[in-house]
Amino acid sequence: MRILLAEDDQTIADHTRSKLELEGFLVDHRASGPDVWAEGETGDYAAIILDLGLPGMDGLSILKRWRAAGLDTPILVLTARGSWMERVDGFDAGADDYLPKPFRSEELVARLRALLRRAGGGRAKATASAGGFVLDETARRVTYDDRPVDLTPLEFRLLALLIAEPQRVFDPIEIARQVQGRDDDAGKNAVEAMIARIRRKTHPTAIATRRGFGYTLAGEGA
Ligand code: CA
Repeated sequence: MRILLAEDDQTIADHTRSKLELEGFLVDHRASGPDVWAEGETGDYAAIILDLGLPGMDGLSILKRWRAAGLDTPILVLTARGSWMERVDGFDAGADDYLPKPFRSEELVARLRALLRRAGGGRAKATASAGGFVLDETARRVTYDDRPVDLTPLEFRLLALLIAEPQRVFDPIEIARQVQGRDDDAGKNAVEAMIARIRRKTHPTAIATRRGFGYTLAGEGA
């Protein structure tokens, strides 16, 4: 499940990102207001975590623009100030929930999951399927051809990434960056090893290799 994290404080962003990734979310991070606005409008996110104090364009203006443009993604607002008025303004602008800083990352995750549950169906649906796989994000279960598959958290994240865009061919370095937060040769080797393990646990052709390009769930001729 892909989350947009809009936060200009690098320490909070790094900490939040690693916690969310540990919990199985795929995280895109943006730090400047204009980048956040553009990414939120064009990207396909299950939810957005939005800091109100962003450079270049403040979070409240971004939120209002998104809602005016019809974006219905669940949005959790973060604010350093934590004032009552800011909270009211945030909800008025279309925020779904609100978390004052400083916050514990466990609380952020709990709020985020509650938000995703409330959103139900639509963009935030809990199961995704492609290429014979069915992946339940909430229960953290995967089946292949209706048989349960036992995956490690990293394998689960890798598969969630491929299922999110089943027609796309993913470069192994891109997978390593998204799944493990690293984009070096060691990350790439780890991805290749994970793919091999998932194939062993399912079927040799469950994940296709496009030689020289990467991996995809799209079968031959797709
Ligand atoms: Ca800020």
